[in-house]
Amino acid sequence: MTWTLADPPAKPLPVILKPLRDELLSSWLQRTACFYSVSAHDLLVQFGVAPTTQIRTIDFDLPASVQHRLSWCLRTNTLRIRNMCHSIPIVRAQRFVAISEAVSRCATGDLRWQGNPTTRPIFRSWFESWQISCGVCRRPFHIPQSRNVEAKAIKKVPETLWQDAMAGSALFAQYISGKPCGILPPKIVWLLASAPMRRHDGGGTGFRLIVPESSRPVFEAIHSSPPTTIRTKNPFKRLTLLAAFHRFDQHPAAWVGELAEAATEAGRRAIFAVLENLPSTIRDALTHRGCLGRISAGYLKHASRDIELHDIRLKLAVNLRQIDQTCLKLIAVASQHLPESHI
Ligand SMILES: [Zn+2]
Repeated sequence: MTWTLADPPAKPLPVILKPLRDELLSSWLQRTACFYSVSAHDLLVQFGVAPTTQIRTIDFDLPASVQHRLSWCLRTNTLRIRNMCHSIPIVRAQRFVAISEAVSRCATGDLRWQGNPTTRPIFRSWFESWQISCGVCRRPFHIPQSRNVEAKAIKKVPETLWQDAMAGSALFAQYISGKPCGILPPKIVWLLASAPMRRHDGGGTGFRLIVPESSRPVFEAIHSSPPTTIRTKNPFKRLTLLAAFHRFDQHPAAWVGELAEAATEAGRRAIFAVLENLPSTIRDALTHRGCLGRISAGYLKHASRDIELHDIRLKLAVNLRQIDQTCLKLIAVASQHLPESHI
């Protein structure tokens, strides 16, 4: 996305609305525009920021010059502008979440802005789909279509599950912003926990083993609306996923052992294939129970980052090998052809 700047207005806006906690930049602009009885598009033209067809694009990847222009026009600083955008690198986020879709809603917010839908703010937490609670009031999200389901949902989700899911959500937030977040990156935990389990071990995937609450009939009843994907459409499925991340991180070696024992033959092969691609220190620690304690806690905290780097190194090695082979082929072919004349 390229942005072009026209001349700035003579003066910043005279009256500025106070931004709300967790509010997105696009939302703040829309509310401000509403105050001046213009559209957000008009406001951006006035600021000399080349208007975009979709106001939501302003919430991602803003160049420093645009951040600076907006902060001047809106009488604030660039840090505040940056904090109102998605701070995560969009490539990293796209691997796990569908940010462009608001799927979670807060009942408190719905009630508060009921009478005035034009100035209703858009909160960032709705779009960050590893979030399970509202960024403003901290209450659990509810499924959008169903009314008054929130109160029931809070009661029916077991407290330990909720707490573990909250811890998993924090872990995921750390991961997605590139901070140290535990022994395995969520992608690897996902792969391990997706292994199919033998029927007499409860069937389904490893997620059921780590989060047995997810198979309780009462829990099933709450999330009966069919989810399109486990990550984005259904906040209750999301609870299982996030709780699994946290629980796995508490006892990684023990879970690897239990998953491998309960998995089907194909599942076990899949688990070992995943382990095979890990750096040897981590693999040994996960496969020989008790070895984990001998690695320093500081290393374990950063391990997921090491695994990602290891992954990149492996891919680079494959690419280099391919380039090498192509070069060898070219050299072999070249000997059979006469050099071309450039005269
Ligand atoms: Zn709320």
